[in-house]
Amino acid sequence: MAGEKSQDNPFVVAQAQITDCADILKLNQSMREMLLHPMREFHVNFPVRMDDGSARIFTGFRVQYNDARGPAKGGIRFHPDETIDTVRALAAWMTWKCSLLDLPLGGAKGGVICNPKELSPGELERLSRSYIRAISPFIGPEKDVPAPDVYTNPQIMAWMADEYSSIVAKNQFGVITGKPLPLGGSPGREDATARGGMYTLREAAAKLGLDLGKATMAIQGYGNAGSFAASLAESMFGSKIVAVCDSKGAVTCREGVCVPRVAAHKRTTQSVLHCEGTTDITNDELLEMDVDILVLAALEGTLTKKNADRVKAKVIVELANGPTTPEADEILYKKGIHVIPDFLCNAGGVTVSYFEMVQNAYMYYWDEEMVHERLEKKMTKAYHEVFEISKQYGINMRRAAYVVAVQRVVEAMRLRGWV
Ligand code: GLU
Repeated sequence: MAGEKSQDNPFVVAQAQITDCADILKLNQSMREMLLHPMREFHVNFPVRMDDGSARIFTGFRVQYNDARGPAKGGIRFHPDETIDTVRALAAWMTWKCSLLDLPLGGAKGGVICNPKELSPGELERLSRSYIRAISPFIGPEKDVPAPDVYTNPQIMAWMADEYSSIVAKNQFGVITGKPLPLGGSPGREDATARGGMYTLREAAAKLGLDLGKATMAIQGYGNAGSFAASLAESMFGSKIVAVCDSKGAVTCREGVCVPRVAAHKRTTQSVLHCEGTTDITNDELLEMDVDILVLAALEGTLTKKNADRVKAKVIVELANGPTTPEADEILYKKGIHVIPDFLCNAGGVTVSYFEMVQNAYMYYWDEEMVHERLEKKMTKAYHEVFEISKQYGINMRRAAYVVAVQRVVEAMRLRGWV
């Protein structure tokens, strides 16, 4: 995939978005070049002892895209289709995300090419530890702080924090966020991505005059973000979830799917498919359903020029990173669909990660109520900043988010005397 100029390559998308923003802000050539490329990236090959006694060599990456505003920050993905260009794009989006929320952090991302579904718990633990050993010289609480992302979770963060602590010969829980609570995790981190997205949805609905209590919602993706989005949309607003899906397929029920039942079904069968009280449909059908709200909570590249025209939702909630290509953005904007762009909508995760870093540094922990309160304030403020810029410049919400975020990174680079 690397090097392709098609919008199937997430880094081509990320760079096109940056160029577009640089044009709006009329940035000079050197500033553009800084923004268009990662400052640092690490490629590591590392061995993992498998259960059968053999050693398998895995490839991983860590990209520190830009740390002008503070230590680099961003998750680690375990995915069979991981590529360096995907990680570069995700690291760029982390840079804009942290800046948009005005967190004193830069952007990074890590990835390992592997299929965690095919690894035993022991192999997964050894892979997590081995990857951290490989990138340990380049990370640290004041340098670069990883976190969970696609197919990684608090247990994996715990192994990684433990491994790093043994390398530096002291407890160094602040090296990573999204940890379990007994190891310096923050209350409210688990559902933070979805909760943050729900706060932005609430603000968007108020602007659009959409009654969330009567709204219907389809959710694409049933990992951490998608599953919490389902339960929070119900509990916070009383919205009706009419369809959900995972990588294996989708299910629908016009009267509303029973969210706890789908969650239990997914836990026991590893999929939402064939859940009692629902009808199976395809993932493409879910994207094109006649609903008020479409939540994108899977992977990058979901809405493209091929299917964007068929979307009927009024609002798109981008809990995934990079789910919509620039070509699809144009189509959605023309259709009058309100897109809450990814690095605004899903910034709740890294915002609570930042709260976790602060709590780790002070060794003093907040209660969940305080986390929710501070998260709500940050998300609401960022939403309104983006909305105002989109009206002021007459541009879509994603472009507006870029304008706010990139301007701050540019200012930091100028003040540091870089460009
Ligand atoms: N992986 C999440 C994201 O894409 C969270 C990153 C973090 O907490 O550092 O925003």
